[in-house]
Amino acid sequence: MEKRLIIAIDGYSSCGKSTFARMIARELNYIFIDSGAMYRAVTLYCIRRKFISGQGLNTRGILEELKDINIDFIYNPDINTHETFMNSENVEAEIRNMEVTSYVSRISQIPEVRARMVELQRQIGAFKGIVMDGRDIGTVVFPDADLKIFMTAAADIRARRRYDELKAKGINIDFEEIKRGIIARDIADENRDISPLRRADDAIVLDNSRMTVDAQMQWVREIIEKKINAGRN
Ligand code: C5P
Repeated sequence: MEKRLIIAIDGYSSCGKSTFARMIARELNYIFIDSGAMYRAVTLYCIRRKFISGQGLNTRGILEELKDINIDFIYNPDINTHETFMNSENVEAEIRNMEVTSYVSRISQIPEVRARMVELQRQIGAFKGIVMDGRDIGTVVFPDADLKIFMTAAADIRARRRYDELKAKGINIDFEEIKRGIIARDIADENRDISPLRRADDAIVLDNSRMTVDAQMQWVREIIEKKINAGRN
């Protein structure tokens, strides 16, 4: 049987990690896990329970209810991909809103939240044949991943892509505000005490500032083929 890989894709916000990871998973018939969606789902739960607002953070409340937050990824054949469910509710769209986006880096700094998410991520990965994207997948979640990719792109380009995406959805937001938000999240993710965003020593860097999605796929196909073939020997 063909060797099934664990592929870890980490990198900065709005680099297109999830799009890339999802496409790889589709091609290989692997499971795709957007680990950011898990932190976003916990954040949504906290907003609804009023555990987070403005500068306030009720860490005790969060920790007490952390065990009650169940996260699943359920395949939707209509759109040929998995969607995020929190306590049996499809939250795929809501976890992408601006409020969740602005709070998620504060929730993802809480050690107990990270420990719980990492535990869930490892359980899912135990089956192999998985592509997971996030910030600490190659460094903490799967340090022995078969392939690690670290994605980056210029902040202006990332903000432009995000701006176009939101505009296409009919959401009007100032370009500079998006850029500030992206940079703020990068800084928060790189400087937190536990599992900060950093490139694993054995990760391959992919700067996609000037690459199309097709070009990225072509680039990764060759690398994956080599990895799978190496496993045959
Ligand atoms: O990838 P996405 O932008 O959806 O991630 C949202 C946030 O979740 C990140 O800014 C980061 O704070 C957190 N995150 C994390 N570790 C991961 C994935 C996401 O801390 N593995």
